[in-house]
Amino acid sequence: MSEPSRTCLGCKKSVPKSKLLRIVADAEKSGIVIDEDGVLPGRGAYVHRGSKCLSIASRRVRAPLRLGDRVDLDAVGQVLAAIPSE
Ligand SMILES: [Zn+2]
Repeated sequence: MSEPSRTCLGCKKSVPKSKLLRIVADAEKSGIVIDEDGVLPGRGAYVHRGSKCLSIASRRVRAPLRLGDRVDLDAVGQVLAAIPSE
């Protein structure tokens, strides 16, 4: 069975899921959570662990995760910026 592919929110390339990091909205829809194990419920978005893709993703993440009006985009950017690049 081939691995499903997902599109990176940063560079928009479609790559095998395991190459990407999954992010989901938190329970309040006011921020994001990194889903290291790929098990958290809800809509997910996928992004490469690279500073370029992560910084683009921080500006695009709101729509795919259906984040609410209370989303703190600065906090979202900080969560993504804290992810170590590979
Ligand atoms: Zn990417």
